[in-house]
Amino acid sequence: MINLPIWNDSLISKYNISGPRYTSYPTALSLEPGYSQSDLQAAITGSNSRTLSLYIHIPFCHQLCYYCGCNKIITRHQSKADVYLDYLAQEIAAKAPLFKHYTVEQLHLGGGTPTFLTAEQMTRLISMLNNAFTFSNNAQRGIEIDPRSLAPNMMEHLHELGFNRVSFGVQDFNDAVQTAVNRPQQLDEVLAILTEARTLGFKSINMDMIYGLPFQSAESYRQTIEQLIALSPDRVSVFNYAHLPDRFAAQRKLKEADMPSAGEKLEIFKQTLEQMTTAGYQFIGMDHFAKTDDELAIAQNEGHLHRNFQGYTTHGDCDLLGLGVSSISQIGHMILQNEKDLKPYYQALEDKQCAITKGITLSADDEIRAAVIKQLICHFELDKNVFEQRFDINFDEYFAQALTALEPLAADGLVELSNHTIKVTSSGNLFIRIICMCFDAYLQNQIKTTRFSRVI
Ligand code: SF4
Repeated sequence: MINLPIWNDSLISKYNISGPRYTSYPTALSLEPGYSQSDLQAAITGSNSRTLSLYIHIPFCHQLCYYCGCNKIITRHQSKADVYLDYLAQEIAAKAPLFKHYTVEQLHLGGGTPTFLTAEQMTRLISMLNNAFTFSNNAQRGIEIDPRSLAPNMMEHLHELGFNRVSFGVQDFNDAVQTAVNRPQQLDEVLAILTEARTLGFKSINMDMIYGLPFQSAESYRQTIEQLIALSPDRVSVFNYAHLPDRFAAQRKLKEADMPSAGEKLEIFKQTLEQMTTAGYQFIGMDHFAKTDDELAIAQNEGHLHRNFQGYTTHGDCDLLGLGVSSISQIGHMILQNEKDLKPYYQALEDKQCAITKGITLSADDEIRAAVIKQLICHFELDKNVFEQRFDINFDEYFAQALTALEPLAADGLVELSNHTIKVTSSGNLFIRIICMCFDAYLQNQIKTTRFSRVI
């Protein structure tokens, strides 16, 4: 278990800057055009893994949430999902044969809103996947659920299709906040679906929350988190809303004047941290909490937690195959991304049976830095000897620049640097992204052109 974060106002005012979330290294910003199906084939050949995590992106939503920064299409036309599944079938037919020596350990449906699909469409999708890939008997099958759009009996249907993990998008229980962001949903609805999921045997039930939305205050969010704790989900993500109206048109519908100030946002997160840890949740890192008997917390405590494009995970050793518009794969030494928009995605599948458009081949240096960043962001400490043996390097020489960058952070008590270890302190674990940034060789160029979210 990592140390409980210590809240230090002067460190927060100094270090609450913006930075990547490191769901991969290099981050998706480093992907370059010019990649295609032959690169996927090469990636598989170069990979030592024969286990697979599958991610399927369902881009449709019935209604626009005004804080949304996701890749989604708002529509009421259910038939659009039939067309999408037709193209997804083409993509599966082109890619699945390349993975015939793999076993799928994990399936995750994300969006958009995966439960936009009707029961029939969901059955069709799962049949396509079951027919095309070999799943392990105890594969984790997870799905993101919008409690507002769940059709009657859908939870039971998902269970019959083999799903055993669920993540609910909740964000806030306060009526004024829900109205402002155009996402009204009743606590009773969430409770009813959660109860049904538990009765059916779903495990590691997650709830996604957001702070920084209009009309949130420390007091209103305290009540929201109280209600959340009473529901007792196994995992909770409390995301910091990044208001980037230049990039995300939906966010232009939100008035900055209605949003909590920077100081109030910090107060909200501080209070949330106290409420969650007092209630017995383990702080996993960044914005994630889990009950101590949840497999995510156990994996962290036993030293085998991972991080990939879906966030913290217990299945980081698997290659990751993303299917659907905009989805990202990480196979062996390569990261590959599909066309981001629907029309080009369909067109690419029609023209060349492949929608891969961008990618990066990790260099030896990328691999070493990725391993260091993953170790720090998952476990908050690092044994230099392990990296010296694994990569045949002298750690202090190889990372001389990074260690120099860490010195001021060490002087401020965020990290402890010794001859053999780097340890993130209780004061530093809220700033893990900044500590990881010291090892990022791409950052100086990206920071000039990109607005990242703040670390708290
Ligand atoms: S926040 Fe989720 S449900 Fe809302 S519009 Fe965006 S993708 Fe759809």
